[in-house]
Amino acid sequence: MDIDLSAEDLAFQAEVQEFLDGNAYKPGEDYNAWRMGWFAAAREKGGWDVPKWPTAFGGPGWTPTQHYIWQKETATRATPWDMPFGTVMLAPMLMQYGSKDQQERFLPDIRSRKVNWCQGYSEPGAGSDLANLKTKAELTDDGKHYIVNGTKIWTTAAHIADWMFCLTRTDDSGRKQEGITFLLFPMNQEGVEVKPIITLGGAHSVNMVHITDVKVPVEDRVGEENKGWAVAKGLLQHERTGIAGISNSIVALEKLKDKARSVTRGNGSLMDDPGFRTKIAALEIDLMATEFTELRSLAAASAGTAPGPESSILKLKGTDIQQRTAKLTTEAGGLFAAAWGGKTAGPSFAREGMASYLASRAYTIYGGASEVQRDVIAKNVLGIKRSGK
Ligand SMILES: Cc1cc2nc3c(=O)[nH]c(=O)nc-3n(C[C@H](O)[C@H](O)[C@H](O)COP(=O)(O)OP(=O)(O)OC[C@H]3O[C@@H](n4cnc5c(N)ncnc54)[C@H](O)[C@@H]3O)c2cc1C
Repeated sequence: MDIDLSAEDLAFQAEVQEFLDGNAYKPGEDYNAWRMGWFAAAREKGGWDVPKWPTAFGGPGWTPTQHYIWQKETATRATPWDMPFGTVMLAPMLMQYGSKDQQERFLPDIRSRKVNWCQGYSEPGAGSDLANLKTKAELTDDGKHYIVNGTKIWTTAAHIADWMFCLTRTDDSGRKQEGITFLLFPMNQEGVEVKPIITLGGAHSVNMVHITDVKVPVEDRVGEENKGWAVAKGLLQHERTGIAGISNSIVALEKLKDKARSVTRGNGSLMDDPGFRTKIAALEIDLMATEFTELRSLAAASAGTAPGPESSILKLKGTDIQQRTAKLTTEAGGLFAAAWGGKTAGPSFAREGMASYLASRAYTIYGGASEVQRDVIAKNVLGIKRSGK
């Protein structure tokens, strides 16, 4: 899709390209030094290190078109590794619900990427039904601390995180959604035990975290006691919008077409195969439609509106598109895609394809499973009531 860019937008696009090219990683450079330097340089540009933050907190205050340009340009170039938990998910909640003291303590280190965060939401008995969580936080008699006990599961990056934002239960007498409290605590302390979980593709990105008698000062509670559900839900909407990855999918689709063109099929290539072409076309149409939805969401965001239930549409469609792209990539690799994980046979893309495909199975689970997104869309976007209610 092309949108008409004004002269100012074209000038901005050129400035973004110049920044990205000028700060590109050079082979042999120390990766971490480059990464930190990149974010510092982006900050110097006027908040480019935190594109979605409001200007009041040092964000760039971009128009929807500028966000769109940034996403497009960064999708085609290697940008430094970054985790969404701090800048994309927790920071907006600290801005909305955090005290001035919390904003001053936590936002600078989130912004500089010096402190990594992880998300302690899911538990063995609470995933889609998140409000069912049981990790208990009890206030000490002097009212100064919470003592936290429980188990979190599927905690991405807990093994490299410095802090966790954690949903806890402080009251179980009423509705499940009432009685939840949002706490922050450091990972490197006695009572926090991180156990790795190795996923289908052989990667270690998720963990189980046992929390035993962890003492959290009341100052590290975000929002009011028992009112953490509002913070939890607000954060999820930011998470879902971030997972969609539309600009990356546009680049991935073009790469997929190139890969298919490199595979011989009869007298031509796989891209000449009507069956394969039909799947590519269907994917491309869905991708364009989802890109328009994302543009609407960007327009709302730059007008200062927090992402609403529409973020579920982006999460649902964006992850479906990522999965279909990964699946078609393994299909293009054919039999060679089965020989993954260091084995060499066939085209090089076939070797990485299977690992990406297996990893992609999780996209429609984390951040809220697709079935749950459909429920949210039915209820909050389409206004459909459950039958019998
Ligand atoms: C790779 C990965 C990374 C993750 N990272 C994190 C993280 O960093 N922090 C964190 O807190 N959590 C994380 N999660 C957990 C993730 O959010 C949960 O897995 C997800 O919410 C689903 O919960 P569950 O696994 O308990 O499955 P369940 O909720 O038990 O669901 C099982 C199945 O039932 C379906 N289902 C459930 N309820 C309904 C319903 N109402 N209607 C229709 N179908 C339904 C689901 O769609 C699913 O297919 C991660 C998960 C994965 C796979």
